[in-house]
Amino acid sequence: MTKGNEKKTDYGFETKSVHAGNMENNVGALVTPIYQTSTFSYPSTNAAAEDFEDLTTGFAYSRITNPSTEVVERKVAELEHGARGVAFASGMGAISATLFTLLASGDHLVCAKSLYSGTDEVITDILGKFGVESTYTDLSDPNNLEEAIKDNTKLVYFETPANPTMDLIDIEEVVKIAKKHDLLVVIDNTFSSPYITNPIDFGVDVVIHSATKYLGGHGDIIAGIVVCKELEMANEIRITGLMHLGAVMAPNTAFLLERGIKTLGVRMERHSSNALALAQWLEKQDWVETVRYPFLESDPCYEIAKKQMRLGGGMISLEVKNGVKGGENFMNNLKLATIAVSLGDTETLVEHPASMTHSMIPEESRVKAGITNGQIRISVGLETVEDLIADMDQAAQNIYD
Ligand code: PLP
Repeated sequence: MTKGNEKKTDYGFETKSVHAGNMENNVGALVTPIYQTSTFSYPSTNAAAEDFEDLTTGFAYSRITNPSTEVVERKVAELEHGARGVAFASGMGAISATLFTLLASGDHLVCAKSLYSGTDEVITDILGKFGVESTYTDLSDPNNLEEAIKDNTKLVYFETPANPTMDLIDIEEVVKIAKKHDLLVVIDNTFSSPYITNPIDFGVDVVIHSATKYLGGHGDIIAGIVVCKELEMANEIRITGLMHLGAVMAPNTAFLLERGIKTLGVRMERHSSNALALAQWLEKQDWVETVRYPFLESDPCYEIAKKQMRLGGGMISLEVKNGVKGGENFMNNLKLATIAVSLGDTETLVEHPASMTHSMIPEESRVKAGITNGQIRISVGLETVEDLIADMDQAAQNIYD
């Protein structure tokens, strides 16, 4: 922690969420002020010259560093056990800046077959256009990584749990193989949040978050954060990926994000207990084909979950009976849960890819990509869980209409 003269470093997660990264300010404000400034003044040209020698420290211009964003960068870095964070305007800003910094034309990366669609497009369409090759493989069997590695492979990229299937990837096993070949490992930890999984503890080099989701937690910001195990890499991403590509987090957003992070631990506890209770109930319903939730004992990934997740998190994947029609009927009869994309908010959000985000993709290719007809993704919110169960129970009564 950086506050005052504090030397103790072994504080618990919630203490760090509240205090880590906090900076002194000259009026003693308890909460970090919103430093709504584009530039910073210097007492002399010499002082400016000193600052410009290393742009990753001090404050010269808010496209590089700003006190409001620095607080969240340091906070999330401590929560993720990394050296330093870099804040971005969005999760996609963080992902593209990281990949553009760490890869060059002629390089190859291996990624998990199931990735957030925006990430997939950056890797395939944009990086591909600049001569970066990619191979998608099923990393739920880490041995597939070995087969996908080529002479020019630089990096492995994945998410766990995967979206929307909720399949898990064994982080430790993937890192073991990657490090044998000197590859960088980059993980999108958005679904778990640092309260549930700390990938750097398993040897991952870079952890990315869409801070729009659990870190912010209230559905009122778009934000991204990258945390690196090594300070040098964070500085490289700051200069190439942030300062030059320019997807900078605004100070106002940093203020809301800092406020959200302070309650991350207590929110994740309730997201997880609500989701576990809902998943256990769903599993017993005759209108449900399958439920995927990492902390269900029946889940095929339960053993991996226990190894790398502190709790099951707030995301459930569900397959209802009666295919696309069953999914639509269920969704349209919900009265409390909200039909919306995104996740990690206080409200329960439900998404039916086959009739919403993926409705324009032909059924055959959609199903091949793991997006089945009755599949519904639930981001379980912080409402009273009995109310959520009652809502889903009444919505399911019309599933066969
Ligand atoms: N990563 C994951 C796993 C996501 O679900 C999303 C958005 O839904 C993103 C990244 C992109 O984040 P943002 O919307 O903050 O740009």
